[in-house]
Amino acid sequence: MSAKGKVIIISAPSGCGKSTIINALLAKGEIDMQFSVSATNRKPREGEKHGVNYYFLSDEEFRRAIDAGEFVEYEEVYPGRYYGTLRGEIDRIVDAGHNVVLDIDVKGGVNVKRMYGDEAVSVFIQPPSVEALRQRLIGRGTETPEAIAQRVDRAEFEISYAPQFDHAVVNDDLDKAIAEVSDILKDFTAR
Ligand code: 5GP
Repeated sequence: MSAKGKVIIISAPSGCGKSTIINALLAKGEIDMQFSVSATNRKPREGEKHGVNYYFLSDEEFRRAIDAGEFVEYEEVYPGRYYGTLRGEIDRIVDAGHNVVLDIDVKGGVNVKRMYGDEAVSVFIQPPSVEALRQRLIGRGTETPEAIAQRVDRAEFEISYAPQFDHAVVNDDLDKAIAEVSDILKDFTAR
């Protein structure tokens, strides 16, 4: 094994269980990997902590971090809402010899894979179908029809990026998806 850690990229449309899969793998602890905490200018949700889920920055602070070259990549994932991967976060973890896991949107995922090449693996988690995602959102009953349409549109756009990832895993059955991602990562980190 090389002294430096490698980069693990996980991307998925919203509502596909990406965070659940990452958290399950981190909790199992079978793969040596640490979570890269991104920066964002969105407000914390209830229970989210600064420095744990994200570094929550003001618009001004986010702009300053861009100007200072602190980001490996950043994207406006939703209108006015920015998210970025901090160079310092990746370097700190890989320099200590650990693998780093990134939970980032599809564009960011493709960009980081391009930058790190063989030192990175990219995994795309996808819903069984757009229709299944739509049904799940309708079934949940928490979204207005407009919001459902917006999320489904965004999911269609994100799914179109799947072929650019090293691996695509369909999350039909959560336990199966976790096992599949785990196998991919064990194989990659053993190389
Ligand atoms: P949320 O607001 O639900 O936490 O995240 C929204 C989206 O932003 C998710 O798809 C998440 O993967 C993505 N995201 C989180 N951090 C980053 C980042 O550092 N860079 C990019 N490009 N996307 C990110």
